[in-house]
Order: sequence, then structure tokens, then C-alpha cells
Amino acid sequence: MKTRTVEQIFAPNPPHYVGDGFRVHNFIPSVPQLSMRRMDPFIMMDYNSKFYFPPSETPRGVGVHPHRGFETVTIAYNGKVAHHDSSGGGGIIGQGEVQWMTAARGVLHKEYHEESFSKTGGDFQMVQLWVNLPAKHKMDPPKYQAITRESMKKVSLPNNAGHVEIISGKFENETGSASTFSPVHLQNAHLNPEGEVTFSFPANFNTGILVIDGNVEIENSKLPTNHFALLRNDGESFTIRALEKSIVLVLSGEPLDEPIAAQGPFVMNTQQEILQAIWDYNNGKFGELS
Ligand code: MN
Repeated sequence: MKTRTVEQIFAPNPPHYVGDGFRVHNFIPSVPQLSMRRMDPFIMMDYNSKFYFPPSETPRGVGVHPHRGFETVTIAYNGKVAHHDSSGGGGIIGQGEVQWMTAARGVLHKEYHEESFSKTGGDFQMVQLWVNLPAKHKMDPPKYQAITRESMKKVSLPNNAGHVEIISGKFENETGSASTFSPVHLQNAHLNPEGEVTFSFPANFNTGILVIDGNVEIENSKLPTNHFALLRNDGESFTIRALEKSIVLVLSGEPLDEPIAAQGPFVMNTQQEILQAIWDYNNGKFGELS
């Protein structure tokens, strides 16, 4: 098996706010080397690096807005997120949990800090990824998967190196509980100091690594906290070594290789479909949510 090498390492962009509750660094697609095409099927990645939110009586967040044509995947590392959508889906995810929302033909939703977390305040840290849907599934009915701590698949690593949590896809002989519409591997490696883990995905799968906590080395490149490594499509396997206790998010997906037409919260295949999405939204076709 050939080793996959590091193409480039990116420091986090200056943060901006999504609503008043998400202070995020955008990596995909605003870093020019991390375009929707280059990272296909990952079309957006916002990262709220660890940030202290003081107590607030009114939960901070982002109000009702639409999505069509893709899935939103929210991974909570610190703090709690509440979510409600117009298909009746919703819930609360806490530390170590994931909400995987398939917007598909369209939902309205809102995303907030969970009420009790809001009242006490605290460190907040999360990732939101948008995973594109294949053209033939863009108009499927919406659905919602919650991956709780209990349903998160875990694989222990040898030599007390730590463990891997599988959100989706495969690691060794285990498969994550999230169902996906195309091959998507989304996994958190929790590594002890000097702990090593080797991942292997087909060479054509677009692959990146975000350091949530700690400091790691990937094939001899140093990757500090909150930095993102883009890996080349020149091999399958790569080894991550922790220089201290660390958490890294690994994403790898098979490119859909279909046309992308994107405008705000709508990601379709043609401009005509974007205009249809805007028309449907303006005509109440995404349901209701107050
Ligand atoms: Mn949203």
C-alpha cells in the first residue's frame, strides 16, 4: 500500500460569526486550495475552535434558515447544540455526539446553544460539515440521524495509543452508525502522547485532517491545534502520531464528480435548480418552523 503525503497545511482563518452563537473559522470552501471541487464531496467546513461563551438567558445561535441538496453534519466537542427542523426532526447533542441531517429536497431549521449550557456558559467547540448529495438523491425526503455517545462505534488502538470513534465509514473491521449516500469516512482519533494510528482510504478519496486538540505529526509534517492538513491523492495510507494528548478529525470521501451549482444554503447541480430552490423557498415549499 502506498503512503499518502501531505499537500498543504492551513492555519485557521480569522473567525466570523454565524448568527450570534457560532464563532467559526471557515476552511472549505473559502481557503482557495480547499474548494468544493478539490474537497468533493465535502462542500463546506466551519470550525468553532474552543471558545468561552459567557452565561446568557437567551440561547445564542442561528435562527430559521433553509437548506437543500446536501447534508449538514454537526460534531460537538465541547458544549451542547440544540436543533429543530421543519420535518419534525431535532434534538440536543452534547460532547462527543453528532447530528447528521439530510436536508435533501429541503428543510427549514434553527441551530442554538442548548438552554442549560446557555445559562451556565462555558467552552464551546464544534465542527459543521456539509456533505454533498449525489444528484439522484438531492430531492429525497429529509431525514435526521443522531449519533449519541452510546451509538458511537469505538475501536481501541494497540499499545495504549488511544481509540478511534467512527461516525461514518470504516476503520479496521468496524463500521460507523451513520448511513451515507456515497462513501464518506468521518472519524475522530483520540490519541495518547506518542500514540500512533494509521488510516487507509482509496487514493482518489479526498482527505483532510483537523486538529481539535493537541499537536500531531502526519508523515513528518507538524500539525498544531486548530490547523487543517490537506492530503494528496497519491496513496492510500497515512500515519498520525500524537506529540501530546490529542484529538484529530479525519475526513475522507469519494468524489461525486458531478456539476456543482451553489448559492448560500442551496447546493444543486445546475443554476436552474438553484432558481427553483429559491422559488420553492419563497413559496413555502420547505415547510414551516417558527
Ligand atoms: Mn443550518
